[in-house]
Amino acid sequence: MTRQQRILLWLATPTAKLAATYLAIIMLMSVSFSIILYQVSVRPFDRPAPRSSQFMPLPRDRMVFNSQIQQELEVRFGEARRALMIQLIWVNIGALFVGAGISYALARRSLRPIEEAMEAQTQFISDASHELRTPLTVLQTTNEVALRKSKLSIRDTKNLISHNIAETQKLRDLSNALLELLKDDSRPISLSSVDIQATTSDALQSIVTIAQAKNITVDNEVKRLRIRSNELLLEQLLGILLANAVKYSRPTTTITLVSKKVADKVHLSVIDEGIGIHPSDMPYIFQRFYRADKSRTGGESSGYGLGLSIAEKIARRIHANISVVSTPDEGSTFTLELPE
Ligand code: ADP
Repeated sequence: MTRQQRILLWLATPTAKLAATYLAIIMLMSVSFSIILYQVSVRPFDRPAPRSSQFMPLPRDRMVFNSQIQQELEVRFGEARRALMIQLIWVNIGALFVGAGISYALARRSLRPIEEAMEAQTQFISDASHELRTPLTVLQTTNEVALRKSKLSIRDTKNLISHNIAETQKLRDLSNALLELLKDDSRPISLSSVDIQATTSDALQSIVTIAQAKNITVDNEVKRLRIRSNELLLEQLLGILLANAVKYSRPTTTITLVSKKVADKVHLSVIDEGIGIHPSDMPYIFQRFYRADKSRTGGESSGYGLGLSIAEKIARRIHANISVVSTPDEGSTFTLELPE
């Protein structure tokens, strides 16, 4: 690409366009101000000089002398006008350069948050497409392989169908998670008095079967405490933490749920004895699509790395805070700080 083409491309960028708009505004103000200043400054020069005869009759030689002075004054006024104009032109040339620098800096500053938001959106779309592609490829490949076989027994067909159903379920979970993340969270939510014991019991319903299947004991020690929250969102948030606790726990371990009143907050903790989180993964676990090392967390079946980002989003909506303490190979404690 030639230098000229690069400049033309740059001129078409939003930064250049916005900088040009800012510069146009600065120059419009500078030029208008200069015109007004010039007009105001030269107005007294343009007033006709009082004729000496207006005051008293003068002898002829004095009149000649006066007209010479007047001519001289007009020459000087002309020079002063020209000098003022040249100075104002220089001031405007200076304003053009300084204004260009300021406009560029302002344009970059104004566009940075928009650029960052767009980058995040592009990243989100690319990550989401990547995640969607995996189950779709698996579905396509297994179906193609089955189709190529000359004969399919009833057992093979049933296996294929249940595999397809499992992959479709994954796709549904993923699209639900994506929709959840894209939900507008600026809408106000209704708050009411919520009994955290009842909400925890409701949330536990969603994981009892998988916990039983892994022989995991759930010890619910949550007390009857009332907080101002949104019941459905709190249940959804607890559901995510509980599902993770089960997912990352080894069989025959225990998941404990405890509550504690601390000042004007209620702390609700989900404690597991699972694989724990490595300190190097800790800063990223709430990021979208982040999954810790697959070999530790149970391979592809572990999820899409969206659960905790949804949990954090819900926590923000109900004015709660999530914190986590974890030791690898010992377990993790996720605590919700809920406002009373
Ligand atoms: P995923 O679908 O992978 O579970 P999450 O956003 O829910 O996605 O979690 C992000 C990562 O945080 C997980 O991949 C896992 O490594 C880690 N993690 C979350 N909860 C736990 C937990 N209770 N025990 C151990 N690791 C956890």
